[in-house]
Amino acid sequence: MSAPHMDPDEFRRAGHAVVDWIADYWTTLGQRPVTSADPPGALAAALPAAPPTAGEPVEAVLADLDALVTPRLTHWQHPGFFGYFPANTSGPSVLGDLVSSGLGVQGMLWATAPACTELETVMLDWLAGLLDLPQRFRSHTRGGGVIQDSASSATLVATLAALHRASGGRWRDHGVDRRYRAYTSTHGHSSIEKAARIAGLGGEGVRAVEVDPDTQAMRPDALRAAIEADRAAGDLPAIVVATIGTTSSTAVDPLPQIGAICAEYGIWLHVDAAYAGAAAVCPELRWSHAGLEYADSYCFDPHKWLLTGFDCDAFWVADRSELIEALTVMPEFLRNAATESGAVIDYRDWQVPLGRRFRALKLWFVLRWYGVEGLRAHIRRGVALAARFAERVRADDRFELAAPHPFSLVCFRLRVGAELDAVNADLLARVNGTGRVHLTHTRVGDRYTLRLAVGSPQTAEAHVDEAWRLLDEAATDLLGKG
Ligand code: PLP
Repeated sequence: MSAPHMDPDEFRRAGHAVVDWIADYWTTLGQRPVTSADPPGALAAALPAAPPTAGEPVEAVLADLDALVTPRLTHWQHPGFFGYFPANTSGPSVLGDLVSSGLGVQGMLWATAPACTELETVMLDWLAGLLDLPQRFRSHTRGGGVIQDSASSATLVATLAALHRASGGRWRDHGVDRRYRAYTSTHGHSSIEKAARIAGLGGEGVRAVEVDPDTQAMRPDALRAAIEADRAAGDLPAIVVATIGTTSSTAVDPLPQIGAICAEYGIWLHVDAAYAGAAAVCPELRWSHAGLEYADSYCFDPHKWLLTGFDCDAFWVADRSELIEALTVMPEFLRNAATESGAVIDYRDWQVPLGRRFRALKLWFVLRWYGVEGLRAHIRRGVALAARFAERVRADDRFELAAPHPFSLVCFRLRVGAELDAVNADLLARVNGTGRVHLTHTRVGDRYTLRLAVGSPQTAEAHVDEAWRLLDEAATDLLGKG
């Protein structure tokens, strides 16, 4: 018997049903609880132990999505989702991804899907223009951009290229010993330590540089002191990862001073703007990128705050040859005339995996659907909603803001004495327990701090106001009415 493939007509019919299902999901999102109250294992217990023997229609899967899956999700596109950082998606992004899936091409080499490579190069140049990134990252220079799956992968490949440079090319063939060092602030993302471990530096190879207590941003004098101490001990500073928009509080490390230090010591500077990079589409927020001309590499995640579904990290290098030299391996089965001509980009040499999807399509759909003004409007709305919420916090004596809020994240807490951590944790549990909103927490100044991150395209003033009302009520309950 031949396999019962879905023929194009069946695909058309089922595909329309799936698109309808997604549109219905988006329409009804606001009425659902943001998170599931089910215990771990609830979905697994509801699913059969083995796949069906005979095939089933797509409608049966859609019915189970409704009955079994969506009730057990945390709904990241929910207008009341304020946790972590946003992970936006949008209609055009989903459609671009659908086309990518339908085409099913592998873009590992230029030769395996020429338009996949070329559209990606152009999209990264478009994005570089949109964010007004330094010219040295554009493809007509020695630099260029590529889509990575995540900011974590961007940090990893930047670390590998930095080691290649710091070891004078020896890293490629000999690896590195543990004397190489990476530097980031105490608020640098955990992916930096992970990259250091994978690269062979060990988790302890990362120096956590102190932050300024007011701004939570890296202190350049502390960075210099750490580098000097390591050099004096015979260690080899290889990479500094500075952050624009730290995960805890969106602090902006002072790139002009950090960049000058990196230039002085010949250290690779990678700038991680995973979330806040998107803000640079707005000219009035580009102050956050001052000093970026010092960077050897830079990344931000359109999959966080720029309406492009996961996975899409935009990563640029100022000198692509260093990255390619660090990562390229040429087996016989990949040899081809285009690569040997030197006239093309083979993005497999810019990333860890060999295979790659046609992710530029979703960016192309998003950039064309929204246009520059549409994207700016999205960012400005998030910033304005966060400012509206911060105003409520500021106006209430029981609360305090825990850090500046330059973008769309507000860090705040109840001002309570000795039991501060426990009371604020209780506050968070109470508001999240309503199912109407979902906030997360961090530590700022080593104290428990609530985070409200605005980003869902569906979030409006009413949702931010509801979050405040729930916090207000829970605080009144917790602190007693008198
Ligand atoms: N860097 C920063 C500053 C982040 O905030 C995050 C995630 O929130 C990451 C890196 C990791 O992002 P990704 O999931 O793209 O690896």
